Amino acid sequence: MSTDVDIVLVGAGIMSATLGTFLKELDPSLSIAMFETLDDCAQESSDGWNNAGTGHAANCEMNYTPQLADGTIDISKALDVNTEFDISRQFWAHLVQKGAIPDPRAFIHPVPHMSFVWGEENVAFLRARFKAMAAHHCYHGMEYTEDRATIADWAPLIMDGRAPDQPVAATRMVTGTDVDYGALTHLLVGHLVRQSGFDVHYQHKVVGLDREADQRWRIDVEDTATRARSTVNAKFVFIGAGGGSLALLEKSQIPEGRGYGGFPVSGIWLRCDVDAVSTRHHAKVYGKAASGSPPMSVPHLDTRIVNGKQSLLFGPYAGFSSKFLKHGSLTDLFTSLTHDNIIPLLDVARDNAKLTEYLIGQVMQSADHQFAALQEFFPRAVKQDWKKAVAGQRVQTIAPHESTGWFKHEEGSLKFGTELVAAADKSIVALLGASPGASTAAFIAVEVLERCFDTQLADPAWHARLTAMIPTYGIDLKQDAEACRRTRAATAPLLHITNI
Ligand SMILES: Cc1cc2nc3c(=O)[nH]c(=O)nc-3n(C[C@H](O)[C@H](O)[C@H](O)COP(=O)(O)OP(=O)(O)OC[C@H]3O[C@@H](n4cnc5c(N)ncnc54)[C@H](O)[C@@H]3O)c2cc1C
Repeated sequence: MSTDVDIVLVGAGIMSATLGTFLKELDPSLSIAMFETLDDCAQESSDGWNNAGTGHAANCEMNYTPQLADGTIDISKALDVNTEFDISRQFWAHLVQKGAIPDPRAFIHPVPHMSFVWGEENVAFLRARFKAMAAHHCYHGMEYTEDRATIADWAPLIMDGRAPDQPVAATRMVTGTDVDYGALTHLLVGHLVRQSGFDVHYQHKVVGLDREADQRWRIDVEDTATRARSTVNAKFVFIGAGGGSLALLEKSQIPEGRGYGGFPVSGIWLRCDVDAVSTRHHAKVYGKAASGSPPMSVPHLDTRIVNGKQSLLFGPYAGFSSKFLKHGSLTDLFTSLTHDNIIPLLDVARDNAKLTEYLIGQVMQSADHQFAALQEFFPRAVKQDWKKAVAGQRVQTIAPHESTGWFKHEEGSLKFGTELVAAADKSIVALLGASPGASTAAFIAVEVLERCFDTQLADPAWHARLTAMIPTYGIDLKQDAEACRRTRAATAPLLHITNI
């Protein structure tokens, strides 16, 4: 193992794999070492079955479009997520075009995204939401119906056996996708290891991060098989360790990381691999979240295509486990507590009573209750066709408000998005949080570049390579309808997905 590299990537999930790929495209001479505790890449949240595989473009997730007090629908968050996904599409299309990804059907498939509601009040909400979204070019092609036969045509399982007098409504975007982020991570890491100057070290856990006198980072690594320790020095460190990122941010002791905490939310799916059932559904159907539920717990009935096989996934049912990673330790939550984050954490616990109530309710749910929730979506679901599966672990970020110094944090807040915490000298950055997640990995990588590699990006050669990868770099697709139309038309055929 080389003891001196330009860059260390901690964790072999979609985030490190994406950032590593960007960096090698921008400067092939960079030496990069990736360290991963487990024995392969994409074994935690990025594994195909540990997440829902939605190519989140905020087409169908109603939590991104809140209704304001005056009744109007705010679509600004949805538009951000929608256009962040365009960055991922361009990045993947670039890799397909240059042959780094031989066949995109190994990881992405066209699957329509639907929102589906029942009850008068929810129908009125969806109607207003459609009106607001369909007026924007980013949602060109969105369809809306309250007609039962049309919904049955779009997604037969959700209408079969439904009470005939129940008011229902649905929207559909046929441009939606299902993405196997595990397969994608394997493709990206495979492409990286074929390049000189890139090494991945599995069964190697990063256990220490210290700044050297020359401002480089000393990374202490433990071989999980032999317990032997070694040390690597790097100019730049990306902490893309998923649920392990908070512990490493704390170890780095950068002042910018003070006061951050994490709150783990686990998830359970119901999964159906019976072909006679799964082949009757070709959509990702998102419902409306229960009151107090965290945004990532919105129930959905999803077509999944993993390793070429079509299955159905329903959930997630939220749960509680003090682990920060699926393969983590039950002590993770407790060892993450520090003088700096305990007050923000208690603030969050106090201010989010509804969330606590929701999580307790979910944990207490019996298998019968869980199945009843599935039957609200799929009335004729049969128990023996479905089995339980444990989803990946998510750590919601608790961010300090205005930190004014030691012990003087004001209230903490629970963040459902992702957060990059970078050192002022740009030598280290940690990625915390999990939503919208893997779909926006390329957008997050660009953000890392802008924050920590701004000097290099000012170099015309770097800039030219970045715009070759992301042709709309620097263009706001929310404003520029023609650029938005052009990029979607260009990326869809390369990725074999639907364009309208
Ligand atoms: C239930 C659920 C549903 C989701 N649904 C979606 C979805 O539909 N669409 C979407 O886009 N996103 C979704 N996500 C989010 C998405 O899965 C994550 O955002 C994404 O996979 C995170 O990637 P990552 O590389 O940051 O983390 P991970 O994939 O968790 O990888 C981090 C890696 O770091 C390693 N590691 C940790 N600590 C260390 C250490 N000290 N040393 C070395 N290695 C270490 C871990 O072993 C792990 O392999 C979902 C997540 C969950 C849990």
